Amino acid sequence: MKYNILSRGDDNSNMLANKIKSSLQEFDLIFDESEPEIVISVGGDGTLLEAFHKYTHRLQETSFVGVHTGHLGFYADWKPDEVEKLVIHIAKTPFKIVEYPLLEVMIRHHDDQTERYLALNECSVKSMEGSLVMDIEIKGELFETFRGDGLCLSTPSGSTAYNKALGGAILHPSLLSFQLAEMASINNRVYRTVGSPLVLPQHHTCMLKPKSDVDFQVTVDHLNLVQKQVKSIQCRVAEEKIRFSRFRPFPFWKRVKESFVAE
Ligand code: NAP
Ligand code: MN
Repeated sequence: MKYNILSRGDDNSNMLANKIKSSLQEFDLIFDESEPEIVISVGGDGTLLEAFHKYTHRLQETSFVGVHTGHLGFYADWKPDEVEKLVIHIAKTPFKIVEYPLLEVMIRHHDDQTERYLALNECSVKSMEGSLVMDIEIKGELFETFRGDGLCLSTPSGSTAYNKALGGAILHPSLLSFQLAEMASINNRVYRTVGSPLVLPQHHTCMLKPKSDVDFQVTVDHLNLVQKQVKSIQCRVAEEKIRFSRFRPFPFWKRVKESFVAE
């Protein structure tokens, strides 16, 4: 089996990554950066997000597993003192694949050029100047005109990240869906939005259409993209999924409990 290891880059993560690498080599596994079947991320969620974005072109062939070194590591199942166990698992045992939904983001410009992104956590949109003013269409029909700080469209597994800070619900990743959450909407006699986060099912599109020609700050996970001349931003549940290698059960609600309530 071919593998790659990505480290957060601090001394501790680098040391662990090297340890995993030399142990896997002893088991005759092949280090391959371009076509790995398994990618081991050593660090936190930020490291796993980077690993995901490095291999979005081969999600069918690559699965991910995370080791966390200090930070939250919501996506990372393994603790540093368990890496020997993990190495043996990777080398010796067939693992289960768990798939989580992703968000497809299509940014269309005035010249009709489009860019497509996949988000593991979310896409957020903010205005570079003044309030964000956007028509929000759901399934091609105008739903509301949003005015406020911004909007966040998150995947189920990303619902515990930025979305959670915005008062969104935590969604189980078995729900093929995405969530739209507001950032400080303006609500008064003149301006009105629904105010609650919305959960949309597979095949429902959410299209954001700017009301004026200003620049936008769009994030896709940890990536920051400044977007000019934006005609629309369309989101929906992606056809692709992320695949995690599971060597032992770690139910989502247990993950949520350990991350946010108590270990
Ligand atoms: P970061 O500033 O280190 O991330 C913020 C925190 O979110 C970190 O503690 C990170 O865990 C955690 N996190 C990431 N994905 C998560 C998930 N799916 N569930 C629960 N917690 C999660 O930056 P980063 O590591 O590059 O991560 C980028 C993410 O930061 C974005 O995708 C966005 O969700 C999040 N963010 C949150 C806010 C907010 O809550 N107000 C604002 C902006 C961005 P680690 O420490 O393990 O990396
Ligand atoms: Mn981080």
